[in-house]
Amino acid sequence: MRWIKVPGIQYPVSSSRQKVRHWALRTGYWILLAAAALLSALPTAPASTPLADDKHVSVYSPVAIYTLPVVERAGRDYVGLLELLEPLGRVSTNSNGGSLRLRYNAVDAEFFAGKTRAKIHGRDFDFAAPVLIENSRGLIPLTSLSGLLPRFLGAPVTFHESARRLFIGGVGIQPSFRLDAANPSRLLLNFSAPVNPTISTEPGKLRMVFKRDPVVSPGSQSIAFDNQVITHASYSENNGDAELDVAASQPLLATFSSDRRTITIAAIAPSPAQPASPTTNPAGTGATAGPQNPTPPAPPANSAANNNSGNNGNSHRMLAVVDPAHGGDERGAALTDTLAEKDVTLGFARLLRHELEVRGFAVALLRDADTSLTLDQRAAAANVAQAGIYISLHAVSQGSGARVYTALLPVEGASNGIFHAWNAAQAPILPISRVVCAAIVTEMQKKEFPAQRSSASLRPLNNVFMPAVAVELAPGANGIADLTSANYQQRAASAIADAVVSVRDRLGVQP
Ligand SMILES: [Zn+2]
Repeated sequence: MRWIKVPGIQYPVSSSRQKVRHWALRTGYWILLAAAALLSALPTAPASTPLADDKHVSVYSPVAIYTLPVVERAGRDYVGLLELLEPLGRVSTNSNGGSLRLRYNAVDAEFFAGKTRAKIHGRDFDFAAPVLIENSRGLIPLTSLSGLLPRFLGAPVTFHESARRLFIGGVGIQPSFRLDAANPSRLLLNFSAPVNPTISTEPGKLRMVFKRDPVVSPGSQSIAFDNQVITHASYSENNGDAELDVAASQPLLATFSSDRRTITIAAIAPSPAQPASPTTNPAGTGATAGPQNPTPPAPPANSAANNNSGNNGNSHRMLAVVDPAHGGDERGAALTDTLAEKDVTLGFARLLRHELEVRGFAVALLRDADTSLTLDQRAAAANVAQAGIYISLHAVSQGSGARVYTALLPVEGASNGIFHAWNAAQAPILPISRVVCAAIVTEMQKKEFPAQRSSASLRPLNNVFMPAVAVELAPGANGIADLTSANYQQRAASAIADAVVSVRDRLGVQP
């Protein structure tokens, strides 16, 4: 695949599909085009937005952050009174159908079915619409929340009514943006408290959705940057969520600092020169090298972008992409009642990064936090970065040791053009993937780590151009505790890294 740099392409945040296609063609990211086309061709929304259409209100307070469903009655929005107050303090209610008495901490109140007037702490309170009592449950008009709550809480309340976000006390988290002085192609977002957004990407845009963080506007809704790569950022809020979007002319990756107060956003750089691989396209190094300088990455975050931008052009380290499967709302397998696969894969990925780095590889983790990425985004990130190898990590509670997979490609025939190409991108390089897979199994067995090889139609293995394997970690002699044991993971990680070194000359992108 050729990597073509087209500088200065800037599209607005909400690119139309046409523009996305145009962008993809112009920049030569045909694989991103395939991903975008595939997603847009699906009749149903991606699985990551199952509740997007349900109306809800988010409540942020120093004692609790929660989301309440909003119900419509006679064209007005209502929320449950008990559900609203219960997370905030001690509540008891008692209803005879026509009225509802409620005690919240030391405050007594009485509400009357079909009436706008209520009594709170001995004083009248007038709602904007009648209170409803359904099955002994009080429903109150959403629009009256900012007046009602201070009567119970004695704290100031700010209600962003159109976005349905309610802030109790001074809980707002203020974001600020700045381009990294040492590397102006890198955007640093600082927050006044730790945050945990769901991050997704699409051509030309990186989106952070804050569902449970009381993030407020950074001051202006839109900020333009004097930068070729990262062009602007915008803030919006809707249906209980806040959203920060960053627009760019190249695919972006976001990484968190360890205190989760800083998110670093940078272009996914193509891998640096790969002398070991005859398939490397030298044009690739030019695509993001531009204004970046060779200073080392900022210490708090480790990412594809940081690792790459730290060694533009003058390093000969091959890029390995390590992909901790699952993340964010998508938890993967429930390994125990409390242990999610997504957490095991991330810890394992960090160990593997270290093992590969000490053996001379540049390593990109596709996520270095509890964030969600679609399978297409994972494949596209690896392809755009022109990694020498792609390693996906999973974990299971059954079996023992490790199972190492290569792609099982779709059956030939029934080709439908670009979709077929996307699903079979791995085909030309599959023999090398099998060599890598065999090497990993061999190294593991040398270290007396039980391992076997397998093939599976395990996406996104079939969507990547470079040698690609998935390693699924299963418990060892100590049972499920092994899955979180650094020692156990370490043995597996070092075997994988040794194996990758042993086949290094075979790695790289298939042209
Ligand atoms: Zn998995």
